[in-house]
Amino acid sequence: APVLDTEFFRRWLSAAAAAVDREADRLTELDAAIGDADHGTNLRRGFAAVTSALQEAAPATPGAVLVLAGGRLISSVGGASGPLYGTLLRSAGKSLGPAGEVSPEQFAKALQEGVAAVSRLGGAVPGDKTMIDALEPAAQALAEDPEGFASAGSAAAGGALATVPLRARKGRASYLGERSIGHQDPGATSSALLVAALAETAA
Ligand code: ADP
Ligand code: MG
Ligand code: MG
Repeated sequence: APVLDTEFFRRWLSAAAAAVDREADRLTELDAAIGDADHGTNLRRGFAAVTSALQEAAPATPGAVLVLAGGRLISSVGGASGPLYGTLLRSAGKSLGPAGEVSPEQFAKALQEGVAAVSRLGGAVPGDKTMIDALEPAAQALAEDPEGFASAGSAAAGGALATVPLRARKGRASYLGERSIGHQDPGATSSALLVAALAETAA
């Protein structure tokens, strides 16, 4: 069975940073429609901070990589998404413990714990038109098939697309009420990018 080592997690976050950088303008445009037009700049700043922290500190275990990255997202992103993504990665990282490499099964469980922590922090459940709508299906797909990273990527992308007809119930977009309907949620879109980067790293 495959093992996921520290380098795998470093490569994932580096692919995520590249995807966020590439798609930042689109994320900000989505946020302009139902938020405050800063999601792309928020995440670009956050993942740039993650990239330099990983280069400087060179954490030695998968758990330490995720905990460090999550902490940097929390401290460098002003918007709601920073603490939420930070909590996702920190919680998943803590769940992995001090092991030098982890199994796909352990990672699937850690991701589920991370998503549950995001739900506790932000109070969002599936259908609220948030990042949870992409993260939850991805975590579910990996729980069913821990090596199915490509399926997790499709599940997250599908979840992001499925936010279009939803009415936002959490975050800034919820202030728009009915007018949030008909737009894709920026955070669900960035979550799909992060899971796509995971699938790309595992391929
Ligand atoms: P802000 O709204 O503070 O400007 P961002 O624009 O960076 O922060 O992030 C907005 C995204 O954060 C939303 O599209 C949504 O997916 C996510 N989000 C906001 N509030 C919540 C919440 N309570 N739970 C989960 N996700 C949330
Ligand atoms: Mg915003
Ligand atoms: Mg903002």
